[in-house]
Amino acid sequence: MLHPLGYSIHILEQSPSPSRSDHAAGITAQPQVVKYFRRHGFSKDSWSIPCPAVQFLGPKATIKRTIKKPLDMTSWNVLYNQLKGRLESLQKENPGEKARMGAGPTATWSFGRRAMDVAYDGNNVKVEYEDLAQG
Ligand SMILES: Cc1cc2nc3c(=O)[nH]c(=O)nc-3n(C[C@H](O)[C@H](O)[C@H](O)COP(=O)(O)OP(=O)(O)OC[C@H]3O[C@@H](n4cnc5c(N)ncnc54)[C@H](O)[C@@H]3O)c2cc1C
Repeated sequence: MLHPLGYSIHILEQSPSPSRSDHAAGITAQPQVVKYFRRHGFSKDSWSIPCPAVQFLGPKATIKRTIKKPLDMTSWNVLYNQLKGRLESLQKENPGEKARMGAGPTATWSFGRRAMDVAYDGNNVKVEYEDLAQG
């Protein structure tokens, strides 16, 4: 959201790597998520499948209750990888060197960095972080 508005962005992620095996869950693509992805140019067909209703199952997989509410289903990993791909292409489009010469905003993604404190002095945001690999 920030990059198309002209801001350079730097994501500090505490997890040590971009591959996230802990994100394998299936989730509903809620209307706000669908709106966000559409607004930012992701094609809905490529990341969700339609589901006609919600069913609650009993212990022997018997259907206990059905709510006829159509939903779009996706998974955490699908959304994460779409966003990750976008960020990686922004990083390639305008690497730091080019941006320093006035070619536009940069995108940087750092891992193993845990934010410890955030301060705002009226003009700038200062983030203190711990480099988890280097201590
Ligand atoms: C069980 C469950 C089911 C859900 N089901 C759905 C669903 O069906 N549909 C739906 O739309 N939403 C669902 N959600 C909600 C959805 O997962 C969250 O709204 C969404 O992940 C929030 O995104 P976020 O980027 O704000 O936070 P997160 O996804 O939590 O990302 C925050 C990131 O910041 C990192 N981080 C945290 N602290 C620091 C720090 N100090 N320094 C550096 N990095 C840090 C974390 O490692 C993490 O990678 C569900 C959530 C849960 C828990």
